[in-house]
Amino acid sequence: MSGAEVTLKNIFKSWNESPALNDISLDVPAGKFTALLGPSGCGKSTALRIVSGLEEPTSGQVFIGGNDVTNIPPAARDIAMVFQSYALFPHLTVAENIVFGLRVRGLIRKERDEKLKATAQLLGLSELLDRRPSQLSGGQQQRVALGRAIVADKSIFLMDEPLSNLDAKLRAEMREEIRALQHRLGVTMLYVTHDQVEAVTMADQVVLMNHGRVEQVASPRVMYETPATLFAAKFIGTPPMVTFSPQLLSRSLTPSILQKSQDLTFGIRPESLALNDSGLINGTVGNVEYLGADTLIECKVGDEFLLCRAPGQTQLTEGAPINLAFNVKDLHVFNTASGQRTDKMLPEIEMALSS
Ligand code: ADP
Repeated sequence: MSGAEVTLKNIFKSWNESPALNDISLDVPAGKFTALLGPSGCGKSTALRIVSGLEEPTSGQVFIGGNDVTNIPPAARDIAMVFQSYALFPHLTVAENIVFGLRVRGLIRKERDEKLKATAQLLGLSELLDRRPSQLSGGQQQRVALGRAIVADKSIFLMDEPLSNLDAKLRAEMREEIRALQHRLGVTMLYVTHDQVEAVTMADQVVLMNHGRVEQVASPRVMYETPATLFAAKFIGTPPMVTFSPQLLSRSLTPSILQKSQDLTFGIRPESLALNDSGLINGTVGNVEYLGADTLIECKVGDEFLLCRAPGQTQLTEGAPINLAFNVKDLHVFNTASGQRTDKMLPEIEMALSS
């Protein structure tokens, strides 16, 4: 089995006046793991369902492996789907659930048994094949649902929040399992999640969506290090990027730079802010949250709040003065109105802050 690429071209979808998808164009590379990420209601599931063929776009085209499949029914699209509700048949055993689709397809018994054996082994289900779904844990049920997708021998896997029913520890384990499985099978994965940790840890490519549009498409690393928009900057990373007005650095920037920066918003990651007596940011300590390895320190400057990720053993009292330093190369600059990243003023700002 190997993956096929999926392409969406100018997809619009609306049920009423406000469009759920507003001109989505997208390449999902063959054999790679792509996460569709975004807040609830941004259109992720709709996009996935349009790829599957369960939903028709109002306009636009869907291509699979270079072929226009916009008018082709789901069963003919070379895709396997795994949803949040596992949709296992309660009265069938694990084995029967996994091969259900194969029976419908009329595969001969020997082939069926071989596929079942290999898949059960791959998923660690070999000992559980005679159980019913009600006798399985949530993680095991999820694996059975995966097994069903695997035996179908499709080159594209679509998953919609498949882990949201699981507890945190199991979710982390299944993240790794699904990622390893995708690697091993070489299938094209399109995976819907609202959880940025899931997207960042699992995907080769993250498609960040917002209000029915694509906000940014990038590898997790690029999206974290160079978010294209304020939305991306705030959505990826916990705690999110800290943003503040250029005015906060007024003592270090010239009046001319401040004047030209009026329509800008600055951003910095909490881990890029460090306690430092000669730091350019001078405020008072707000809330302090101890997290073991780290301590999150709120720093109040005027009416703005920054968040600094300091070593866990850092001890500070609320209301005490605090100075924070940062490396100029860690500063992000955005246009406040459009939200777009802009590097226009960076050289001037860098020069002023370095001197
Ligand atoms: P997400 O998966 O990102 O949470 P969805 O794709 O489910 O978002 O939904 C996107 C938007 O489309 C939402 O505003 C939702 O209410 C709307 N929507 C989804 N399905 C339907 C439907 N069958 N009929 C009408 N509106 C829908």
